[in-house]
Amino acid sequence: MKNNTPVSFEFFAAKTPEGREKLKVTCAELDKFSPEFYSVTYGAGGSTRDTTKDIVLDIKANGYESAPHLSVGGDTQSEVIDLVQSYKDAGITKLVALRGDLPSGIGGTKQLVHANELVALIREHSGDHFEINVAAYPEIHPEAESYSKDIFWLGEKFNAGADRAITQYFYNPEAYFRYIEHCAQAGIDKPIIPGIMPLTNYHNLVRFSDNCGADIPRWLRWQLKERSDNTEDLISYGTEVVTKLCEDLLAGGAPGLHFYTMNQWQISDTLCRNLGLPTEAG
Ligand code: FAD
Repeated sequence: MKNNTPVSFEFFAAKTPEGREKLKVTCAELDKFSPEFYSVTYGAGGSTRDTTKDIVLDIKANGYESAPHLSVGGDTQSEVIDLVQSYKDAGITKLVALRGDLPSGIGGTKQLVHANELVALIREHSGDHFEINVAAYPEIHPEAESYSKDIFWLGEKFNAGADRAITQYFYNPEAYFRYIEHCAQAGIDKPIIPGIMPLTNYHNLVRFSDNCGADIPRWLRWQLKERSDNTEDLISYGTEVVTKLCEDLLAGGAPGLHFYTMNQWQISDTLCRNLGLPTEAG
Protein backbone atom coordinates (compact mmCIF):
# COMPACT_ATOMS: atom_id res chain seq x y z
CA MET A 1 0.00 0.00 0.00
CA LYS A 2 1.13 3.55 -0.73
CA ASN A 3 1.88 5.40 2.45
CA ASN A 4 2.12 8.85 0.91
CA THR A 5 -1.49 8.80 -0.20
CA PRO A 6 -2.82 12.32 -0.82
CA VAL A 7 -6.05 12.94 1.09
CA SER A 8 -8.68 15.65 1.16
CA PHE A 9 -11.72 16.14 3.39
CA GLU A 10 -15.17 17.45 2.54
CA PHE A 11 -17.49 19.47 4.79
CA PHE A 12 -21.03 20.59 4.26
CA ALA A 13 -21.73 24.28 4.80
CA ALA A 14 -22.65 24.37 8.50
CA LYS A 15 -25.34 27.00 9.05
CA THR A 16 -25.10 27.63 12.81
CA PRO A 17 -22.29 29.36 14.72
CA GLU A 18 -21.84 26.14 16.76
CA GLY A 19 -21.52 24.14 13.54
CA ARG A 20 -18.86 26.52 12.27
CA GLU A 21 -16.94 26.39 15.54
CA LYS A 22 -17.01 22.60 15.31
CA LEU A 23 -15.45 22.80 11.85
CA LYS A 24 -12.45 24.61 13.31
CA VAL A 25 -11.85 21.65 15.63
CA THR A 26 -12.40 19.23 12.74
CA CYS A 27 -9.80 21.02 10.59
CA ALA A 28 -7.31 21.12 13.46
CA GLU A 29 -7.76 17.39 14.18
CA LEU A 30 -7.46 16.28 10.56
CA ASP A 31 -4.56 18.59 9.78
CA LYS A 32 -2.12 15.96 11.04
CA PHE A 33 -2.69 14.04 7.80
CA SER A 34 -1.49 17.08 5.79
CA PRO A 35 -4.58 17.12 3.56
CA GLU A 36 -4.36 18.68 0.13
CA PHE A 37 -7.49 20.71 0.97
CA TYR A 38 -10.74 20.90 2.87
CA SER A 39 -13.65 21.37 0.49
CA VAL A 40 -17.00 22.94 1.39
CA THR A 41 -20.24 22.04 -0.40
CA TYR A 42 -22.52 24.48 -2.15
CA GLY A 43 -26.24 24.10 -1.40
CA ALA A 44 -28.53 23.25 -4.28
CA GLY A 45 -29.41 26.32 -6.29
CA GLY A 46 -26.93 28.57 -4.48
CA SER A 47 -28.81 28.18 -1.19
CA THR A 48 -25.56 28.31 0.83
CA ARG A 49 -23.64 30.75 -1.39
CA ASP A 50 -22.66 33.11 1.45
CA THR A 51 -22.26 30.38 4.07
CA THR A 52 -19.99 28.34 1.81
CA LYS A 53 -17.88 31.39 1.06
CA ASP A 54 -17.64 32.43 4.73
CA ILE A 55 -16.56 28.94 5.79
CA VAL A 56 -14.03 28.64 2.97
CA LEU A 57 -12.50 31.99 3.91
CA ASP A 58 -12.47 31.02 7.63
CA ILE A 59 -10.59 27.81 6.83
CA LYS A 60 -8.14 29.75 4.70
CA ALA A 61 -7.69 32.39 7.42
CA ASN A 62 -6.82 29.60 9.86
CA GLY A 63 -3.95 28.59 7.61
CA TYR A 64 -5.42 25.61 5.74
CA GLU A 65 -6.05 25.01 2.03
CA SER A 66 -9.73 25.29 1.26
CA ALA A 67 -11.67 24.53 -1.89
CA PRO A 68 -15.20 25.82 -2.38
CA HIS A 69 -17.71 23.75 -4.31
CA LEU A 70 -19.42 25.85 -6.92
CA SER A 71 -22.48 24.98 -8.93
CA VAL A 72 -24.66 26.74 -11.42
CA GLY A 73 -27.86 24.96 -10.37
CA GLY A 74 -29.73 28.20 -9.70
CA ASP A 75 -27.21 30.96 -10.37
CA THR A 76 -26.79 33.24 -13.37
CA GLN A 77 -23.43 33.32 -15.15
CA SER A 78 -22.62 36.76 -13.79
CA GLU A 79 -23.33 35.58 -10.22
CA VAL A 80 -20.96 32.67 -10.82
CA ILE A 81 -18.26 34.94 -12.25
CA ASP A 82 -18.57 37.39 -9.34
CA LEU A 83 -18.15 34.51 -6.90
CA VAL A 84 -15.17 33.06 -8.79
CA GLN A 85 -13.53 36.52 -8.84
CA SER A 86 -14.06 36.91 -5.08
CA TYR A 87 -12.37 33.54 -4.47
CA LYS A 88 -9.49 34.57 -6.72
CA ASP A 89 -9.13 37.86 -4.83
CA ALA A 90 -9.10 35.93 -1.54
CA GLY A 91 -6.21 33.73 -2.70
CA ILE A 92 -8.24 30.53 -3.12
CA THR A 93 -6.58 28.33 -5.73
CA LYS A 94 -8.77 25.20 -5.83
CA LEU A 95 -12.42 24.76 -6.81
CA VAL A 96 -14.84 21.88 -7.13
CA ALA A 97 -17.02 22.71 -10.16
CA LEU A 98 -20.43 21.05 -10.42
CA ARG A 99 -23.68 21.34 -12.25
CA GLY A 100 -25.50 20.93 -8.96
CA ASP A 101 -29.14 20.08 -8.65
CA LEU A 102 -32.01 22.53 -8.70
CA PRO A 103 -33.87 22.70 -5.39
CA SER A 104 -37.57 21.92 -5.72
CA GLY A 105 -39.57 25.07 -6.47
CA ILE A 106 -37.00 26.58 -8.84
CA GLY A 107 -37.30 26.01 -12.52
CA GLY A 108 -37.64 27.70 -15.84
CA THR A 109 -36.18 31.11 -15.02
CA LYS A 110 -32.56 30.10 -14.42
CA GLN A 111 -30.23 28.59 -16.92
CA LEU A 112 -29.13 25.11 -15.93
CA VAL A 113 -25.82 24.43 -17.64
CA HIS A 114 -23.67 21.34 -17.40
CA ALA A 115 -20.46 21.19 -15.41
CA ASN A 116 -18.27 21.18 -18.56
CA GLU A 117 -19.72 24.59 -19.41
CA LEU A 118 -18.98 25.82 -15.88
CA VAL A 119 -15.38 24.60 -16.15
CA ALA A 120 -15.04 26.42 -19.51
CA LEU A 121 -16.50 29.59 -17.96
CA ILE A 122 -14.05 29.48 -15.05
CA ARG A 123 -11.08 28.89 -17.40
CA GLU A 124 -12.24 31.71 -19.69
CA HIS A 125 -12.52 34.05 -16.72
CA SER A 126 -9.51 33.03 -14.62
CA GLY A 127 -7.11 31.24 -16.94
CA ASP A 128 -4.93 28.79 -15.05
CA HIS A 129 -5.39 30.37 -11.63
CA PHE A 130 -7.51 27.54 -10.20
CA GLU A 131 -6.98 23.81 -9.93
CA ILE A 132 -10.42 22.61 -10.98
CA ASN A 133 -11.95 19.41 -9.56
CA VAL A 134 -15.09 17.92 -11.09
CA ALA A 135 -17.46 15.09 -10.15
CA ALA A 136 -17.26 11.55 -11.53
CA TYR A 137 -19.62 8.60 -11.08
CA PRO A 138 -18.17 5.07 -11.10
CA GLU A 139 -21.72 3.73 -10.79
CA ILE A 140 -22.90 6.30 -13.36
CA HIS A 141 -24.90 9.47 -12.75
CA PRO A 142 -28.63 8.73 -12.32
CA GLU A 143 -29.62 10.98 -15.25
CA ALA A 144 -26.98 9.61 -17.64
CA GLU A 145 -28.08 8.67 -21.13
CA SER A 146 -25.78 5.63 -21.01
CA TYR A 147 -22.60 4.32 -19.35
CA SER A 148 -20.46 5.46 -22.28
CA LYS A 149 -22.18 8.85 -22.57
CA ASP A 150 -21.52 9.58 -18.88
CA ILE A 151 -17.82 8.84 -19.43
CA PHE A 152 -17.91 10.95 -22.59
CA TRP A 153 -19.22 13.94 -20.60
CA LEU A 154 -16.58 13.40 -17.91
CA GLY A 155 -14.04 13.61 -20.74
CA GLU A 156 -15.65 16.88 -21.86
CA LYS A 157 -15.14 18.31 -18.36
CA PHE A 158 -11.44 17.48 -18.69
CA ASN A 159 -11.35 18.85 -22.25
CA ALA A 160 -12.84 22.08 -20.88
CA GLY A 161 -9.91 22.36 -18.46
CA ALA A 162 -10.62 20.31 -15.32
CA ASP A 163 -7.51 18.94 -13.61
CA ARG A 164 -8.89 16.05 -11.60
CA ALA A 165 -12.15 14.38 -10.62
CA ILE A 166 -13.57 13.23 -7.29
CA THR A 167 -16.06 10.40 -7.37
CA GLN A 168 -19.46 9.89 -5.88
CA TYR A 169 -19.15 7.39 -3.04
CA PHE A 170 -19.45 3.66 -3.70
CA TYR A 171 -18.83 0.46 -1.75
CA ASN A 172 -17.82 -1.83 -4.58
CA PRO A 173 -14.18 -1.27 -5.59
CA GLU A 174 -14.77 -3.25 -8.79
CA ALA A 175 -17.13 -0.49 -10.00
CA TYR A 176 -14.30 2.03 -9.59
CA PHE A 177 -11.63 -0.08 -11.31
CA ARG A 178 -13.87 -0.88 -14.28
CA TYR A 179 -14.79 2.79 -14.55
CA ILE A 180 -11.12 3.82 -14.52
CA GLU A 181 -10.44 1.26 -17.25
CA HIS A 182 -13.27 2.61 -19.42
CA CYS A 183 -12.18 6.20 -18.79
CA ALA A 184 -8.65 5.29 -19.90
CA GLN A 185 -10.06 3.65 -23.04
CA ALA A 186 -11.95 6.90 -23.70
CA GLY A 187 -8.65 8.82 -23.52
CA ILE A 188 -9.02 10.20 -19.98
CA ASP A 189 -5.63 10.32 -18.27
CA LYS A 190 -6.29 12.71 -15.37
CA PRO A 191 -6.56 11.56 -11.73
CA ILE A 192 -9.96 10.27 -10.58
CA ILE A 193 -9.97 10.27 -6.79
CA PRO A 194 -12.38 7.95 -4.96
CA GLY A 195 -14.87 9.72 -2.70
CA ILE A 196 -15.17 7.80 0.58
CA MET A 197 -18.35 7.92 2.65
CA PRO A 198 -17.95 6.54 6.19
CA LEU A 199 -20.79 4.29 7.35
CA THR A 200 -22.46 5.91 10.35
CA ASN A 201 -26.24 5.81 9.94
CA TYR A 202 -28.23 3.13 8.11
CA HIS A 203 -31.41 5.12 7.41
CA ASN A 204 -29.64 8.27 6.19
CA LEU A 205 -27.36 6.20 3.98
CA VAL A 206 -30.26 4.36 2.34
CA ARG A 207 -32.21 7.57 1.73
CA PHE A 208 -29.22 9.45 0.35
CA SER A 209 -28.01 6.55 -1.80
CA ASP A 210 -31.45 6.11 -3.37
CA ASN A 211 -31.38 9.80 -4.33
CA CYS A 212 -27.88 9.95 -5.79
CA GLY A 213 -27.81 6.52 -7.41
CA ALA A 214 -25.03 5.05 -5.23
CA ASP A 215 -25.37 1.29 -4.80
CA ILE A 216 -25.26 -0.30 -1.36
CA PRO A 217 -24.40 -3.96 -2.01
CA ARG A 218 -27.11 -6.27 -0.72
CA TRP A 219 -24.83 -7.99 1.83
CA LEU A 220 -23.77 -4.61 3.23
CA ARG A 221 -27.33 -3.30 3.37
CA TRP A 222 -28.37 -6.33 5.48
CA GLN A 223 -25.33 -6.07 7.76
CA LEU A 224 -25.98 -2.37 8.39
CA LYS A 225 -29.71 -2.87 8.83
CA GLU A 226 -29.05 -5.44 11.54
CA ARG A 227 -26.98 -2.83 13.40
CA SER A 228 -29.23 0.15 12.67
CA ASP A 229 -30.36 0.48 16.31
CA ASN A 230 -26.84 0.24 17.73
CA THR A 231 -24.79 3.20 16.52
CA GLU A 232 -21.57 2.05 18.17
CA ASP A 233 -21.78 -1.40 16.61
CA LEU A 234 -22.74 0.02 13.21
CA ILE A 235 -19.84 2.49 13.21
CA SER A 236 -17.37 -0.16 14.33
CA TYR A 237 -18.51 -2.59 11.62
CA GLY A 238 -18.83 0.18 8.99
CA THR A 239 -15.33 1.46 9.70
CA GLU A 240 -13.92 -2.03 9.18
CA VAL A 241 -15.74 -2.28 5.83
CA VAL A 242 -14.64 1.18 4.66
CA THR A 243 -11.04 0.58 5.77
CA LYS A 244 -10.98 -2.55 3.59
CA LEU A 245 -12.53 -0.61 0.71
CA CYS A 246 -9.80 2.05 0.98
CA GLU A 247 -7.07 -0.60 1.23
CA ASP A 248 -8.36 -2.30 -1.92
CA LEU A 249 -8.58 1.02 -3.76
CA LEU A 250 -5.05 2.05 -2.84
CA ALA A 251 -3.64 -1.41 -3.55
CA GLY A 252 -5.27 -1.17 -7.00
CA GLY A 253 -3.64 2.19 -7.72
CA ALA A 254 -6.20 4.84 -6.67
CA PRO A 255 -4.33 8.17 -6.74
CA GLY A 256 -5.69 9.49 -3.42
CA LEU A 257 -8.76 9.51 -1.19
CA HIS A 258 -11.39 12.20 -0.61
CA PHE A 259 -13.36 11.71 2.61
CA TYR A 260 -16.95 12.88 3.02
CA THR A 261 -16.56 13.77 6.69
CA MET A 262 -20.13 14.91 7.42
CA ASN A 263 -18.28 17.55 9.50
CA GLN A 264 -17.03 14.94 12.01
CA TRP A 265 -13.32 14.29 12.35
CA GLN A 266 -13.35 11.07 14.40
CA ILE A 267 -14.20 8.48 11.75
CA SER A 268 -12.03 9.99 9.03
CA ASP A 269 -9.21 10.09 11.59
CA THR A 270 -9.71 6.40 12.43
CA LEU A 271 -9.83 5.47 8.73
CA CYS A 272 -6.62 7.37 7.97
CA ARG A 273 -4.88 5.77 10.96
CA ASN A 274 -6.13 2.31 9.97
CA LEU A 275 -4.60 2.91 6.54
CA GLY A 276 -1.29 3.81 8.14
CA LEU A 277 -1.25 7.28 6.67
CA PRO A 278 1.61 9.27 8.12
CA THR A 279 0.78 11.94 10.64
CA GLU A 280 2.77 15.09 11.22
CA ALA A 281 3.77 13.70 14.61
CA GLY A 282 5.15 10.62 12.83
P1 FAD B 1 -22.68 17.14 -15.04
O1 FAD B 1 -21.26 16.81 -15.26
O2 FAD B 1 -23.26 18.30 -15.78
O3 FAD B 1 -23.52 15.81 -15.35
C1 FAD B 1 -24.91 15.72 -15.05
C2 FAD B 1 -25.59 14.74 -15.99
O4 FAD B 1 -25.68 15.29 -17.31
C3 FAD B 1 -24.89 13.39 -16.18
O5 FAD B 1 -25.90 12.43 -16.34
C4 FAD B 1 -24.07 13.55 -17.47
O6 FAD B 1 -23.94 12.32 -18.15
C5 FAD B 1 -24.91 14.53 -18.28
N1 FAD B 1 -24.12 15.54 -18.98
C6 FAD B 1 -22.96 16.13 -18.55
N2 FAD B 1 -22.59 17.10 -19.41
C7 FAD B 1 -23.52 17.15 -20.38
C8 FAD B 1 -23.73 17.99 -21.52
N3 FAD B 1 -22.87 18.97 -21.82
N4 FAD B 1 -24.83 17.79 -22.30
C9 FAD B 1 -25.72 16.81 -21.98
N5 FAD B 1 -25.58 15.99 -20.91
C10 FAD B 1 -24.52 16.17 -20.11
N6 FAD B 1 -24.21 18.98 -5.45
C11 FAD B 1 -24.46 20.21 -4.91
O7 FAD B 1 -25.58 20.74 -5.10
N7 FAD B 1 -23.53 20.85 -4.14
C12 FAD B 1 -22.29 20.33 -3.91
O8 FAD B 1 -21.47 20.95 -3.23
C13 FAD B 1 -21.99 19.05 -4.47
N8 FAD B 1 -20.77 18.48 -4.30
C14 FAD B 1 -20.46 17.28 -4.93
C15 FAD B 1 -19.18 16.77 -4.82
C16 FAD B 1 -18.84 15.57 -5.45
C17 FAD B 1 -17.42 15.05 -5.32
C18 FAD B 1 -19.81 14.87 -6.19
C19 FAD B 1 -19.49 13.56 -6.84
C20 FAD B 1 -21.11 15.38 -6.31
C21 FAD B 1 -21.45 16.60 -5.70
N9 FAD B 1 -22.73 17.17 -5.82
C22 FAD B 1 -23.00 18.40 -5.25
C23 FAD B 1 -23.79 16.49 -6.57
C24 FAD B 1 -23.86 16.95 -8.04
O9 FAD B 1 -24.12 18.33 -8.13
C25 FAD B 1 -24.98 16.16 -8.71
O10 FAD B 1 -24.62 14.82 -8.81
C26 FAD B 1 -25.47 16.71 -10.05
O11 FAD B 1 -26.69 16.03 -10.36
C27 FAD B 1 -24.51 16.49 -11.20
O12 FAD B 1 -23.43 17.34 -11.12
P2 FAD B 1 -22.20 17.17 -12.16
O13 FAD B 1 -21.29 18.29 -11.89
O14 FAD B 1 -21.69 15.80 -12.13
O15 FAD B 1 -23.01 17.43 -13.52
